[in-house]
Amino acid sequence: MREGLGPGPHGVRPVLGRAPSCPSQAGQAPLMMDEREEDADEEAWLQLRPVEPLPSQCCGSGCSPCVFDLYHRELARWEAARASKDRSLLSGEESQSCPSKLSPETFLAFCISAVDRLTEDTYRVRFALPRNCQFSLRPGQHLILRGKVDGLEIQRAYTPISPANAEGYFEVLIKRVRVPVRSPCVCSQCYPTGLMSRYVKSWGTGHTAFWRGPFGDFFYKANQYGELLMLASGTGLAPMVPILQSITDNAEDETFVTLVSCFKTFEGIYLKTFLQEQARFWNVRTFFVLSQENSLEKLPWSYREKTRFGRLAQGLIEELVGSCRRKPFALVCGSAEFTKDVARCLLCAGLAKDSYFLF
Ligand SMILES: Cc1cc2nc3c(=O)[nH]c(=O)nc-3n(C[C@H](O)[C@H](O)[C@H](O)COP(=O)(O)OP(=O)(O)OC[C@H]3O[C@@H](n4cnc5c(N)ncnc54)[C@H](O)[C@@H]3O)c2cc1C
Repeated sequence: MREGLGPGPHGVRPVLGRAPSCPSQAGQAPLMMDEREEDADEEAWLQLRPVEPLPSQCCGSGCSPCVFDLYHRELARWEAARASKDRSLLSGEESQSCPSKLSPETFLAFCISAVDRLTEDTYRVRFALPRNCQFSLRPGQHLILRGKVDGLEIQRAYTPISPANAEGYFEVLIKRVRVPVRSPCVCSQCYPTGLMSRYVKSWGTGHTAFWRGPFGDFFYKANQYGELLMLASGTGLAPMVPILQSITDNAEDETFVTLVSCFKTFEGIYLKTFLQEQARFWNVRTFFVLSQENSLEKLPWSYREKTRFGRLAQGLIEELVGSCRRKPFALVCGSAEFTKDVARCLLCAGLAKDSYFLF
């Protein structure tokens, strides 16, 4: 399937300058046929013209090439193909089924092999890679997913949580979000679901989804930092998972890790088993900050010492930075608001601007 080559904005173009088909002009019949053919051909080309994306179709992650770069590239390709009347020039971006390599520019089709519901609104989705091959993704990099809602093509970023060397699959954590609206009504049912969230609702095993990538500028190197202070909120945990796993999988990597995960409730914590297993490593500490809980007695014993209630604010960030065993480098991922607030707190806690990375 070609990307971005839906029907042109004009749909059916008015046919201009058509010669009248009266019998007296029978001698010009071949010319009339040519013109009609040309008109039909022009119409067919217009149907293949790439459609300019709307702002809501962009994933907003600043990826390169972005949906608008791809549009301009496809437009240039379409113009060249039309000028030389050669449709084969359009066929450079066919999506293969279950490819083994990613491309930042071209969407490729991957088949869903499993969908697990982790919490009320969050799913872990596994995609198959053929012949047990691996993606050349660095831990923490993200991909762009393409979806279609009400005929509108949209693109959004998601970060694989599978280990960078996972063979034969990759996994993403997808939260189905509701969009906050300015309205006197505050019940959650009144919030419309996000666009991609609506699209992924229909997914199941055997479905196909289209991805391009990888993107992301944080490249982790073993032993590069004394301690990584990971501060994540909700699905912001996603990039931390493969980075943490790459550290604990590598016996040569002696980086300390302090992972702080913020959720609303205990029920809402993702990947509990994985996080508990990681916390057993000598160099890993995990903490939880729950904004809508207030009773330690309701938590399992193994969580009580490492859970705080409320929000991840200045005081707690200073305490965390102060308790790091080596000079920390902070990784921050969550909503734009979370990321901005935490960055400000890190600066107040004495970290320099080059001592943290905001996903
Ligand atoms: C680099 C990057 C990596 C990302 N990785 C992941 C990932 O691994 N898993 C994942 O689920 N999402 C991830 N996201 C968010 C994802 O790209 C989409 O923004 C999200 O799924 C909402 O898309 P939508 O089309 O359903 O909502 P839209 O129709 O775009 O509406 C978005 C609205 O929902 C809010 N919103 C967006 N994300 C969240 C969220 N997680 N929690 C609460 N509110 C939110 C926004 O503030 C906005 O108001 C990532 C984003 C970026 C930029």
